[in-house]
Amino acid sequence: MTTKPDFNVGLIGSGFMGKAHTFGYASAAKVFDLAVNPVLHTLADISDAAASKAASALGFAHATSDWRKMVDDPAIHVVNITAPNALHKDMALAAIAAGKHVYCEKPLAPLVADAREMAEAAEAAGVKTQVGFNYLCNPMLKLAREMIEAGELGEIRGFRGLHAEDYMADATGPYTFRHDPAGGGALADLGSHVLATAEYLLGPVTEVMGDCVTMIPERPDGYGGVKAVTVDDVARAFLRFASGANGSLEANWIATGRKMQHDFEVWGSKGALTFSQERFNELHFFDTRDAKGRQGFRRIEAGPDHAPYGRFCVAAGHQIGFNDLKAIEVARFLEAITSGAPEPYGFRAGLRIQMLVEAIHQSSSERAWRSVPD
Ligand code: NAD
Repeated sequence: MTTKPDFNVGLIGSGFMGKAHTFGYASAAKVFDLAVNPVLHTLADISDAAASKAASALGFAHATSDWRKMVDDPAIHVVNITAPNALHKDMALAAIAAGKHVYCEKPLAPLVADAREMAEAAEAAGVKTQVGFNYLCNPMLKLAREMIEAGELGEIRGFRGLHAEDYMADATGPYTFRHDPAGGGALADLGSHVLATAEYLLGPVTEVMGDCVTMIPERPDGYGGVKAVTVDDVARAFLRFASGANGSLEANWIATGRKMQHDFEVWGSKGALTFSQERFNELHFFDTRDAKGRQGFRRIEAGPDHAPYGRFCVAAGHQIGFNDLKAIEVARFLEAITSGAPEPYGFRAGLRIQMLVEAIHQSSSERAWRSVPD
């Protein structure tokens, strides 16, 4: 048995995404043929008690309430940032300054200027970075892109993308970090995923026209009072692509009844694709070349023909899950680190999404179309 070098993982934040990153490393080590052995080394959280409890539950060897101490620890090879958005920049810059690779959750930073500073710092330091756009790791999205690129849909004319959930639909729900004007709002939180999908499938967006709306203007502050909300609960935008295609986007976190409607449709001159994240092991294809009277969207089910599905399960139709997408993302990031190849979705790509988010916000305030620089 060959021994792989240990690769020590530091994690900041142990909530929803902290767990997903942890499961990602644990699965990636078993499912993929990695060049290193990821070790769950240190977990940092808001207090010693919270960090110790989470470290023990998730299998980290050490715990701390001081993320700076963890970042500066020479034993740590990669810093995972799964803390609130407004903290990403300080944490990432400290990790980069300490020479660590950084895997940061989306949205990368509150502002384009912050995201640019982070991308430039990482490039100058020569460390690898990754932003958590895990939905792009779905083998069925790869299939959709391959079908588009192969011309199976003909000339691509349009895109409609949506990310709707209802976790903010209750107006009595508390003010959270997602309402913080520094990096909050439905567009940054959910719309960032739609923008990443749109450009992954259709290429660059060049112009946007946004409409961002706050529907619940205040929320309980957790101390008996209320706090004003200024970020968008619902954001919509028209999109123009460099290819000549056009499209639309909706990001909505008050969509009562919706749990994970990260959906898209792409129309071409010869065919169309539809997809829903709530059934993400399926892609639906309409082909105008099918015989008249027999036409309709056919369901393509994920299976071992759609790599890397087969690494998780040998049988088609049995389905992979949300945390498996994180394992694929971890494996690609580690591959970039160990091989020196470019990262699949580094800070520069996260900056690009932030530029689109900011352009849509500005367009909405100005009530005018805005161009998006390359
Ligand atoms: P969460 O509230 O569940 O977890 C946040 C964690 O950060 C908690 O453990 C909290 O105690 C910790 N934390 C807060 N302040 C800290 C500090 N100063 N030092 C150390 N730890 C601190 O939030 P979440 O839903 O996991 O979101 C975290 C990030 O992940 C956000 O940026 C969010 O946008 C992103 N996210 C991404 C996806 C995705 O699909 N890629 C899904 C959900 C969330």
